[in-house]
Amino acid sequence: KMVTGYAGWQEDELRREQARLQAEYEAYRSLNLKLDMSRGKPCPEQLQLSNEMLDILPSGEELRAENGTDCRNYGGLDGLPEAKRFFAEMLGVQSSEVIVQGNSSLNLMYDALARAMLFGVLGSEQPWSRLPSVKFLCPSPGYDRHFAICEQLNIEMITVDMTPEGPDMDAVERLVAEDDSIKGIWCVPKYSNPGGITYSDATVERLARMKTRAGDFRIFWDDAYTVHHLTSRHDELKNMLEACSNAGHPDRVFIFASTSKVTFPGSGVAALAASRDNLSHLKKQLSVQTIGPDKVNQLRHIRFLKDMEHLGRHMEKHAAIIKPKFDLVLSKLESGPGSKDIASWSKPSGGYFISLDTIDGCAREVVQRAAEAGVTLTPAGATYPYGRDPRDRNIRIAPTYPSLEELAQAIDILCVCVQLVSIDRILADQ
Ligand code: PMP
Repeated sequence: KMVTGYAGWQEDELRREQARLQAEYEAYRSLNLKLDMSRGKPCPEQLQLSNEMLDILPSGEELRAENGTDCRNYGGLDGLPEAKRFFAEMLGVQSSEVIVQGNSSLNLMYDALARAMLFGVLGSEQPWSRLPSVKFLCPSPGYDRHFAICEQLNIEMITVDMTPEGPDMDAVERLVAEDDSIKGIWCVPKYSNPGGITYSDATVERLARMKTRAGDFRIFWDDAYTVHHLTSRHDELKNMLEACSNAGHPDRVFIFASTSKVTFPGSGVAALAASRDNLSHLKKQLSVQTIGPDKVNQLRHIRFLKDMEHLGRHMEKHAAIIKPKFDLVLSKLESGPGSKDIASWSKPSGGYFISLDTIDGCAREVVQRAAEAGVTLTPAGATYPYGRDPRDRNIRIAPTYPSLEELAQAIDILCVCVQLVSIDRILADQ
């Protein structure tokens, strides 16, 4: 193979390249740009796709759900029947295995974990917080807000590597078999945040079957991107609730999802799916916490999204808006750092992120330099527990929010930063 990458360049070539890139960088810096790519948010055009939903509920009538419930009033702890059916179909479970709640799945995850700490889960001998230590496995790179919940609740995080098939299952099986203080694992099983990975059938099976020292182990299965395809080739995820049930561990999994990136983030509808026993245990606690969720919002969501077919078409409209943004980032990475063999990145077919790995020890500085040139990225390290990326190489790119023009500029700057910092590193190592 011909050496095209910086690693094969002579020192004087590298120094000339460094000077050229530095000049480019300074030129960008003088533009005083302000580009934010730090969070995975839909862009205004995507939000517009759901504006009709706001006109859907007639103001002149009672707002009745299909079972006659007046949605304007109290009642119905586990959500409207049509909302339960909708999420059940989306997640491949029975209506009786799902409850539909408020506006945020992250909120449901936080509450589920907080209740586990306060009271334990179904089958716990005592509240988790009474134990000398509680640990969670954190496949990484992963979702920073999952890790933040653990950090706040004083749950010790153990980093597990991600592979192209999901978490490193050899490590997971070994850890859960030997340590009864490991009470759970965080999973974003489809189009994962940030790697865009969908867990293989074998990974799902092994998670469902594995022997855990803790009798009350829970998989937090955050299926946030289950319908968020970028192309017509959809990843398939094996049904985790079924797999757990077949493996004789029906209560092992809590599944979460929401319409945050389907309709309006922050004003969507979230759901939790689990075994019937898990749900009745959970609802007893939940009934003290709330009289019931926002049924008006549920009603308007279901009348707008209707069924899986409509949902699919709606998601295709999202994809039409954001796919070109993903493509733009991928082609710029290819012709920039890719052509110099100094980075690798995910090419997701769904979800909201591109995960970029620089050469070791560069991510923090790349993010810092990009910030100085006006491009805000997710902080380096954020995709690892405690914000510590052991190889300091992972950068999460969130391409959906900026316009194509802004995105082009931001990625050009990011590419220059990656190349510059890599050259500095290579020269320092020579
Ligand atoms: N889970 C994952 C993996 C996410 O990426 C996000 C949002 N970025 C959420 C959960 C948050 O979902 P919600 O708005 O339903 O709280």
